[in-house]
Amino acid sequence: MPVVVPAFSRIGEENAFAVLARATALAQAGRDVINLGIGQPDMPTPPHVVEAAVKALQDGHHGYTPATGILPLREAVARDLDRRLGVQVSPDSVMIVPGGKVTMFMAILMFGEPGAEILYPDPGFPIYRSMIEFTGATPVPVPIREENGFAFSAEETLALITPRTRLLILNSPANPTGGVTPKAEIDKLVAGLAAHPDVTIMSDEIYGTMTYDGERHHTLLAYPEIRDRLIYLDGASKTYAMTGWRLGWSVWPAPLYDAARKLAVNSFSCVNAATQWAGIAALDGPQDCVAAMMAEFDRRRLLVVEGLNKLPGVSCITPKGAFYAFPNISETGWKAKALASALLEEAGVATIGGPDFGIHGEGYLRLSYANSAENIARALERIGSFLEGNRR
Ligand code: PLP
Repeated sequence: MPVVVPAFSRIGEENAFAVLARATALAQAGRDVINLGIGQPDMPTPPHVVEAAVKALQDGHHGYTPATGILPLREAVARDLDRRLGVQVSPDSVMIVPGGKVTMFMAILMFGEPGAEILYPDPGFPIYRSMIEFTGATPVPVPIREENGFAFSAEETLALITPRTRLLILNSPANPTGGVTPKAEIDKLVAGLAAHPDVTIMSDEIYGTMTYDGERHHTLLAYPEIRDRLIYLDGASKTYAMTGWRLGWSVWPAPLYDAARKLAVNSFSCVNAATQWAGIAALDGPQDCVAAMMAEFDRRRLLVVEGLNKLPGVSCITPKGAFYAFPNISETGWKAKALASALLEEAGVATIGGPDFGIHGEGYLRLSYANSAENIARALERIGSFLEGNRR
């Protein structure tokens, strides 16, 4: 008899990893593939951060650390939140975790159970829905609409709350759309949440340093009225080009902090010690590396949006954050996943079909501009020729 674990029939994954594997296989077979599928900066981790990790290893930081992370890093996170966002958090509410994903994993495990409803953005990061389904809770998608500039709508979100809603997941700046929700909309949402005191909020702000056009990041941490039921998710993966290091952090309300600590003790024990020391160097060190990366992303953002809007049947609003464009391809006549697959196999360009981010992603593709300007220009040319030759 094969071993069957029923809960695992409900867990999903991230198609971006499958696209990456296919793109790599095609490249290994000699094909010239341009990868606009991947959600990680193409720059290396800043050298002073790497040096801090090397030094930590040489200094003998080889053992377990506290499960919640070393105090100097938790203090550095608190300093960063104060400096960057003007919010005060106690280092005792900060938890160091191996990547941004782990905070959502913990939060969804805490609140997800059969009968519970969890609201999440759609299109949105695919792990939200996957984990909600895994716990047996009911996933309730909150539509994220192009006509709102891919910001979430306070009204639409509040209208979906029921007495069974346990957790509300928010994400701005957003993956996969690059949408940034304006402060006025967040104000409205927080005001409306006063009527729903039993709903916990998880705010995924992993792209919080990645906004454009002078747009400021508005953190949910800035609202004292929800601080006792807000889980803040952040990390080093995107801001400091550290996806492979596995370093994230979260801020928890006091009653949940110990539950998060226990989940850490029961799973990963602690984040790699040298990585934690690197995190201190990243947060406390010079931030010009972040500014330089953002200037480069900004240049590419304009290139990609301008190029996309010239393609037949394609229109793309200018993303205000992260490093993704989310063009509307519905006028091409192609279904999004079929187009993404044909572009990879026939044109050698890796993108992700919008439906990989939820049902409201149909009609869109996600293009990451974490690739060189030259490659972006070549990719746009290839997509253009493909669409010209394959009209539906
Ligand atoms: N949240 C969002 C919205 C993301 O896009 C990602 C990564 O793509 C993560 C969280 C997870 O980040 P990490 O690689 O640090 O686990």
